[in-house]
This record gives sequence, C-alpha cells and structure tokens, in this order.
Amino acid sequence: MNKTFMIPAIFAAVAFLAAFAPVQDRKADLQKWAIHDETRPMPPVVDPGPAGPPVPAPSDAVVLFDGRDLSKWVTGKGEPAKWKVENGYMEVVKGTGSIRTKERFGDCQLHVEWASPGVVVEAGQGRGNSGVFLMDTYEVQILDCYDNRTYADGMTAAIYGQYPPLVNACRKPGEWQAYDIVFHAPRFDPEGKLLQPARMTVFHNGCLVHDDVELTGPTAHKVRPPYEAHPETLPLSLQDHGHPVRFRNIWIRGL
Ligand code: MG
Repeated sequence: MNKTFMIPAIFAAVAFLAAFAPVQDRKADLQKWAIHDETRPMPPVVDPGPAGPPVPAPSDAVVLFDGRDLSKWVTGKGEPAKWKVENGYMEVVKGTGSIRTKERFGDCQLHVEWASPGVVVEAGQGRGNSGVFLMDTYEVQILDCYDNRTYADGMTAAIYGQYPPLVNACRKPGEWQAYDIVFHAPRFDPEGKLLQPARMTVFHNGCLVHDDVELTGPTAHKVRPPYEAHPETLPLSLQDHGHPVRFRNIWIRGL
C-alpha cells in the first residue's frame, strides 16, 4: 500500500475501532460476571444536581401520565389500574400488581420521572424497588441507591441482571429523578430466530448510564434467559415490587 492510501486507511481503522470499542467492552465486561455477582464493581457516584420541574412532553409524544389519571394504564389482567393518584403523581399500591399501557410500543424514546419513598425503611433491593419494563420484558431497574449497597447489576438504572449503570447518579430518597431511554426492540425472522438483539441508551438524571448496549435477552432474577420471539410492539409496564414508589410525567415517542 502506498502512502496516499495508507494514512486514510489507518484513520479509518482507528475510527472503526473507536466506534465499536464501547459496545465490545461492555459485552466483554458482562461475560466476566455471574448474574448478581456481589463482587462486581459498583460505578462511581456522581451528583446530578438538584431536581428540576417536570420536563415538558414534545408535541409528537404520547403522554402516558400527566398527573391526573390512570386512563392509559391497566393491570396485567387488563383491568383498570389500581395505583394511587394524588398531587400530580401516581404511587404503587402494594399487592395491586404491576401496571401496563393499553397502547403498545416498539422502538421508542421514553421519559419517566420517579421518586423512591422519602422515609427509608429497608436496605439493598428492599429500598424503593420498582422498574420500567420496555415491551413488558426488558427492565431498567428503579431502586434507591443513594448510599445503599446492592449488587451492581440490580442497582438504580441497571439493565437488570445484565449491565450496571456507568455512574450512580441517584438523588436523595424522596427527590424526583428522571430516566430518558432510547430503546430499539429486538428483531426476529418469521421463524422466530433472533436477527438483532434489543439495544438501549439510558440517561439517569441527565447522566449517560448506558451507551447503546446490546441486551442478552429478557431481564430476569438470577438468570439471563435467551430471547424468545415476540410481537413488534408490546405494552410498556411499571413494576409493583411492594414499595410505594411514585411516578409523574411519563411520555413516549415512537421511533
Ligand atoms: Mg425492579
């Protein structure tokens, strides 16, 4: 190869490697750790700054909760959602079950604001546990990890059982926090074979915590199950984990 071609070729190779390095690093990192490994390193703590007012929904967004009612939500059995609505937020009512949207979504940009209980009663996974399930299948964990130790792949903003967040950007218990999630649904061929895994980019309180990571399959407790073919769109769901976690201002934009 002469010099005229070699220099651009080197630049192209470096650019190519740089573009794929973060994805590869995260996948390689995942394979080093058993699920819920207590020795997996915790990410550094960052202070995201104080909570602001609710982030307005763009004009093309579907507003799933505006603080007034649960008309866009049902239980897992399709019955009216039974969580409490007051003062512009909804709150998990223990034992009434997770709730899901009536509408179904695939690739999307999702904004969710939530707050863990201001009064701390337990530790680890017992502290303000809930979750945002894309397609009712892929969980971004909600937990109060402000000065609270748990396994890294189950902490706040973890893609549960797979990826800890890049940083711990938790605000104090009781303060409003935000997730901004870009989700690409997995693709399956007509026979149900996986063509492309699901991918997620997540911001927690404005801090990047997942940079276009590939999910290994559905999120689950103690196991990393393989993909199972599912429809192109499915409901979004919020978890009843028995703790009075609050939500406000939830909106979604299909991609
Ligand atoms: Mg959870």
